[in-house]
Amino acid sequence: MRYISTRGEAPSLGFADVLLTGLASDGGLYVPDSLPVFSQDEMLAMANMSYAELAHKVILPFVEEDISSAELKVMVDETYAGFSHHAVAPLVQLDQNEWVLELFHGPTLAFKDFALQLLGRLMDHVLGKRNKKLVIMGATSGDTGSAAIEGCRHSEHVQLFILHPHERVSEVQRRQMTTLMGDNIHNIAVTGNFDDCQQMVKQSFADQAFLHGGQLGAVNSINWARIMAQIVYYFYAGAALGAPYRQVSFSVPTGNFGDIYAGYIAMQMGLPVKQLVVATNANDILHRCISANHYVKHNLIKTLSPSMDIMVSSNFERLLFDLYDRNGAELAELVADLNVGKADRLATERWHKAREIFASHKVDDELTCEVIKQVAEQHNYLLDPHSAIGVEAGRACNQHPEVPMITLATAHPVKFPDAVLRAGQNAPQLPRHLSDLLERPEQYDVLPNDLAAVQEFIAEHSR
Ligand SMILES: *Cc1c(COP(=O)(O)O)cnc(C)c1O
Repeated sequence: MRYISTRGEAPSLGFADVLLTGLASDGGLYVPDSLPVFSQDEMLAMANMSYAELAHKVILPFVEEDISSAELKVMVDETYAGFSHHAVAPLVQLDQNEWVLELFHGPTLAFKDFALQLLGRLMDHVLGKRNKKLVIMGATSGDTGSAAIEGCRHSEHVQLFILHPHERVSEVQRRQMTTLMGDNIHNIAVTGNFDDCQQMVKQSFADQAFLHGGQLGAVNSINWARIMAQIVYYFYAGAALGAPYRQVSFSVPTGNFGDIYAGYIAMQMGLPVKQLVVATNANDILHRCISANHYVKHNLIKTLSPSMDIMVSSNFERLLFDLYDRNGAELAELVADLNVGKADRLATERWHKAREIFASHKVDDELTCEVIKQVAEQHNYLLDPHSAIGVEAGRACNQHPEVPMITLATAHPVKFPDAVLRAGQNAPQLPRHLSDLLERPEQYDVLPNDLAAVQEFIAEHSR
């Protein structure tokens, strides 16, 4: 399988290079040039597989030119053995046709562990074979950082630099990053917002001269390998609820459009998906785009669901690429125009294509808390604020009540006590492996919202 850039100018690459590269040299994102499609029989067999077996089945076609079946098996077995629930991604039923897919049983209690625990192993494996070192730079609005650090802290070949917006992540989120010590781990708090951090990462990829010959790798969801690992749980949930003979719908709390894009890929790979619901908080550019074909950046709003406080969703470009019939030149022009405000909508027929698959809904903080309260009282189940947005959006957009609606529960409620308390619920307890988190020593550097300062720090600490 080859991977091509959404902007059509960068060379096509194999999996190992895509894994280590992140963003393409033309500023685009890598996507597979074609997708494997599973037959009905293959999907039927999925219902009897463990999570790790299914992960092996789904991921192998994407990596097999660089990683053998046996090598992949070791990596997925190790990755998902580290999850605290034997089902890895258990499904919980709230109501007749309403389900929650719990994706927070990994070491850092958010769905990002599914991809990043594997990514660290994949990268170390490929780098080891090539006898190379990699500097990884990532921006986080909270959960990516700790998941990336957990995923890479035993990687011998990786130096990891994680930028987070200073004082804009929850205390638990910050401590999950800053209490993990290691010679190859560097936490940087930038005095700006998440988009500032993400912008710095993008600019650093575009011009890597500051590394004096070093190579930069990505752990953000611009990295295809993250999307790839997330496709698995869509099949897992679908097969458990009756696919291929029964359709399923998903509601996905969305920030960078990575997680829901994985659902869209699962659909292209044969999973019978009826609806994909884009669930946003007040930072609603995707909702405005999908519901009204209005794509204009607003200022960032700080919400109770900080992992979705994102102004521009980088992975949306991957969907646009398909909507524009994979015409890289046309897409590059559109993205440039959207970025500077020269365009504010998609061509009408392209937008209609998106509407055939996606619905969307926006949920503000007040309603988020109401949903947490309502679900706690009526179903005796505690949602985190991101997952609550997903549940509410799934209800609001559900056009097919006969089809199961599965909300991806992206984080454990213990990570977001503010919202839980505001919803009138007791703050949940940290799980045992994190019970002393608030007492552990922290290590991080605060840097100004200034690209040169951050790059200098990285150059100095990656030698
Ligand atoms: C990262 C994150 C999201 C958003 O996921 P994307 O892939 O960026 O759309 C939602 N909820 C939680 C808890 C997250 O950590």
